[in-house]
Amino acid sequence: MELCAECGVSVSPRSCGDLFQALLALDHERQAPWGPLHGVSVSCFLFQHPSRLPADGGAMAWALLHAYLEGGLSEVNRLVSRARRGNSHRVKDMPSRVACEAALPQRDAPPPRFSVTIEDVAVDGTFPAEGFTERVRAWAAATVDAWSPPPACERP
Ligand SMILES: [Zn+2]
Repeated sequence: MELCAECGVSVSPRSCGDLFQALLALDHERQAPWGPLHGVSVSCFLFQHPSRLPADGGAMAWALLHAYLEGGLSEVNRLVSRARRGNSHRVKDMPSRVACEAALPQRDAPPPRFSVTIEDVAVDGTFPAEGFTERVRAWAAATVDAWSPPPACERP
């Protein structure tokens, strides 16, 4: 069985890339529950496929995942509007409690496995609306957990 080298999902019958395209198509309809979670979904996918991370190392995507787990979509929206005003992706703009954990992970040491992948979020490949928000939250948590912070970041 052939597996994605990054997220570990089987490439058949649908690869994780195919599933991601299907999810993007739903996002672009701009309907709930998919549309509002677009940024979170993309961030999860990028951090489960670090070779696709943008040149900034995924700073915005990483910050967005932490914002979502910390305060849900309202926190994400605050982060995005701050970024639009131009003072983006600095750790000091993050909710303070997660600032340390929100330090970008080392991209040369990606986690070998994630407990939740896009395949779990897709269910039967259609990303059903029922339970979608909960599955994306689990996806985000699994992604951040896998890239766990270095010991120096542990809270006192
Ligand atoms: Zn994959």
